[in-house]
Amino acid sequence: MTKGNRLKVLFVTTELAPFSKVGGLGDVAGSLPKALSQAGVDVRVVTPAWPGVLEKVAESGLKTTTLKTQVYAAYDWRIHSATVIKAEVKGVPTYFLKSDDYAGDMYPSQLNYWTASPFAVFCMQALELKNAVDWEPDIYHCHDWTSAFLPCSLAWHRYYRQVGGRSIMTLHNVAYQGIFEPSPFLEASGLEPWSFSSSTMEFYGQVNLLKGGIVAATAVTTVSPTYAGEIQTYESTRELSGILYQQRSKLRGILNGLDTKYWDAEKDKLIPKNFSVKDLKGKSACRRELLERAGFDTGTDAPIIVGVSRLVEQKGFDLVLNGINEIKAMGAKLIILGSGQDWIENGLNQAAEANPDSIKFFRGYDEPLSHVLYSGGDIFLMPSVFEPCGLSQMISMRYGTVPVAREVGGLRDTVFDVDRPEGGNGFTFQTCDTEGMLWALRRAVERYRNKDAWQEIMLEGMREDFTWDKSALLYKELYEDLMQ
Ligand code: ADP
Repeated sequence: MTKGNRLKVLFVTTELAPFSKVGGLGDVAGSLPKALSQAGVDVRVVTPAWPGVLEKVAESGLKTTTLKTQVYAAYDWRIHSATVIKAEVKGVPTYFLKSDDYAGDMYPSQLNYWTASPFAVFCMQALELKNAVDWEPDIYHCHDWTSAFLPCSLAWHRYYRQVGGRSIMTLHNVAYQGIFEPSPFLEASGLEPWSFSSSTMEFYGQVNLLKGGIVAATAVTTVSPTYAGEIQTYESTRELSGILYQQRSKLRGILNGLDTKYWDAEKDKLIPKNFSVKDLKGKSACRRELLERAGFDTGTDAPIIVGVSRLVEQKGFDLVLNGINEIKAMGAKLIILGSGQDWIENGLNQAAEANPDSIKFFRGYDEPLSHVLYSGGDIFLMPSVFEPCGLSQMISMRYGTVPVAREVGGLRDTVFDVDRPEGGNGFTFQTCDTEGMLWALRRAVERYRNKDAWQEIMLEGMREDFTWDKSALLYKELYEDLMQ
């Protein structure tokens, strides 16, 4: 960076909402760059054009240009080229890489040398982007195992380690690490043989891309202060905790923000009626719409408990399935939208079939429907086993839907129990068991009967500042520290 110039940062991400999104990473990549740009950082984004992505870009009305120069990566003894398509997304220059490497499913169900190769190729093409766009980043900001090969390359690749550069590895979820057999990856990737040792990328005889990224990156961040502490313990990250503890001096926890323009009860076009802190009336129309979609009596005054989630062990749905009868006995309605592991989907289906008047399960990933749940619900249930940050609890609060959440990770940094002396915005519990969850849910359902007290809690959540403003400054500070 030359003096007086803005710091140049390239966001290297495999998800970018609203064009490609599996979970929170997509949301963050779709909203943080704009906040960084407003904070004065010259930030740009590179992402693969997975199937359907360019169609969504076109549908959104963005103007695109195809760059004259392609990007290349040498991998597996051949050259992988990609066409670079540029668009300004929310004012941020964004480069979509189009090639056969990104023509399959976004994330493979089985990871091995072949299925991991698009991610290695993507990272090398991101390093080559400067040759196609005449703009060279000061810092590469990478996210999760899917772009962890980039810091690994800067440290250990035969060619790129000589080029050098600074990188940041942001950990959105340490549960996914990119682990697979080392052969023939080590020979084909261009990494030096010494990149595969217990202090670098090797992990119980396997390649662990995330571990390599953590060791190789100039700095590491994760998405909430509490999770930054938790991941250094064996209870949280098992065998990887030693490395995270060892690398703790370069680790910071920076809380995620939200795209508060998108998740805005006052302007959201995907909800039946808008409402705000000043006028809550529209919320009852949203409630009615949700009850109707669920096939329930729209005149009921029973509290509606909602959940919008990936259905994986992390999210604590075994607690919900074990507590179905008690939830029903509370006189509440339960409406869940999600997809994921069969045993959770089947369990929710069975519960809904057995209780057609009080439990509804919408199976699948449905962005517009999620807005109906966030706005129409009364209580948002999030009993996570672990939660790096969690966006859903913040989204629900923006829509006056009060969270019931476990005190873990980012949930601990954003949901505060109303029964604390200083008050709060939700209901929390500590122990990861059904009884703990039901204890918090019962308190919420009882409080719901007192309309004035409930409205106060709703408003407390709606008034929270979940913008990126504070956290974007913390990232900017980190970028500046790295340039010292
Ligand atoms: P994670 O990243 O672990 O999945 P987060 O709470 O950080 O959890 O982010 C989840 C994001 O994905 C939220 O925006 C949530 O609304 C969205 N989401 C999850 N499941 C679904 C679904 N089935 N349909 C629509 N949106 C979903």
